[in-house]
Amino acid sequence: MHRDSQTHSNAELKLNIIPRQEHCISRKDISDNALKVLYRLNKSGYQAYLVGGGVRDLLLKKQPKDFDIATNATPDEVRQLFRNCRLVGRRFRLAHILFGRDVIEVATFRGHHQTEQEQKTPEQENTEKKDKSARQSDDGMLLRDNVYGFIDEDAERRDFTVNALYYSIDDFTVRDYTDGVKDLQAGIIRLIGDPETRYREDPVRMLRAARFAAKLDMRIEETTAAPIPALAHLLGDVPAARLFEESLKLLQSGYGWKTYRLLSDFNLFSPLFPILDRDLGESRNAKCTQIIEKVLKSTDARIAKNLRINPAFLFSVMLWYPLEARAEERVIERGLNYYDAFMAAANDILDEQIKTIAIPRRFTAMIREIWLLQLRLISRSGTRAYKLLEQQKFRAAFDFLEIRGEIEGGQLKELATWWEHFQFEDKEKRHQMVQLINKSNTKSTTRRKKSKPRHNKTQQKP
Ligand code: ATP
Ligand code: MG
Repeated sequence: MHRDSQTHSNAELKLNIIPRQEHCISRKDISDNALKVLYRLNKSGYQAYLVGGGVRDLLLKKQPKDFDIATNATPDEVRQLFRNCRLVGRRFRLAHILFGRDVIEVATFRGHHQTEQEQKTPEQENTEKKDKSARQSDDGMLLRDNVYGFIDEDAERRDFTVNALYYSIDDFTVRDYTDGVKDLQAGIIRLIGDPETRYREDPVRMLRAARFAAKLDMRIEETTAAPIPALAHLLGDVPAARLFEESLKLLQSGYGWKTYRLLSDFNLFSPLFPILDRDLGESRNAKCTQIIEKVLKSTDARIAKNLRINPAFLFSVMLWYPLEARAEERVIERGLNYYDAFMAAANDILDEQIKTIAIPRRFTAMIREIWLLQLRLISRSGTRAYKLLEQQKFRAAFDFLEIRGEIEGGQLKELATWWEHFQFEDKEKRHQMVQLINKSNTKSTTRRKKSKPRHNKTQQKP
């Protein structure tokens, strides 16, 4: 590794250039599409680097999730080079090069920009122009970050040192402006610059710190970690749509349970799921904690086995106990039957949750369906059980019931076991199972009729 003092704008930054023979990144580990983009940019006279998670993960000998590219070409210049290019993002303008379902993200080097106060000074000639490309809220949040610059400035504007490494397609070296390689080797997640300022600029960086620490099994450096609990509330200012995307990366990337624990330790979980922070009473609080652990561990296990996962399942399970509590409140407050109270509570809970995490409609519809199936799985007489088995969301609803059975035991456990058998038995055995249910239903109805006539048709509570 040799040291070079060549930087464009910041004398404090020292550049380490790691030559090809001293690092393990080989072109064969980079996707063909990313290579195509790197080469086309390079051959057209632009600088082109692989950056971010791609470089970081390859240096750790892990398979990168995606390949991000940084260049000195502006988004418009990138668009002129690639027919399959789409410009996206207002806050942070990027070029997406599309190869079927594979998307290569190309970002133009970000430069330094002045703060709003600095921009407002009368001597600033180009205030208007700057204002369009960078904008900050009163509390320091970057609303737009589209001032372009040099590679070393770009390095400083990235989040963590381990994410600010650049692999050059020109000479196959790795450029390290922030001692990222050292942190990578030591397993340290360190924010570049002053942590509080950087979190205020973009509170999502706090979530990213937890995510990378969990995923890479690294530790968050002290000054990077220290301001987080006190600033966690800033997540309230982040658009809920962005937090939906982030919540999936946090909880559905294979390290959900570990990430959740870190988020909780740093007070970052409740701003995302305020409903889960509410006191549901001692017994339900305990069950709520258990169900979160179970569903996250089972999601992690499914991802490890390359099985399909669905955010609707995850959210529906996580929010189950607050839903149950709300439904009971509704029964008491409004004298509704359990079914109506349950459906109204489902709306309440989802309305509240989407304020922080904008779960798209297609998933909220699925969540409602999975919740409703928790009620419907109780009635199995006649042709009901057969019909339920045909439901598209049966499998999700059954997995859910199984988790609840493990937590609550008793009748719920028996119900889950019944369904487990019913799914896999042959026709004859299934018939017998339903007959038994029919019989026990007849008995209990006769008993009920004898003791007290029922006026209201109320749905049984699960
Ligand atoms: P992965 O893709 O494995 O989740 P990543 O580090 O590649 O991790 P991306 O979200 O793909 O994460 O972002 C690519 C790179 O862009 C990051 O490595 C980082 O350098 C930069 N970056 C992303 N988000 C931010 C942010 N909020 N603030 C500063 N830099 C960021
Ligand atoms: Mg990435």
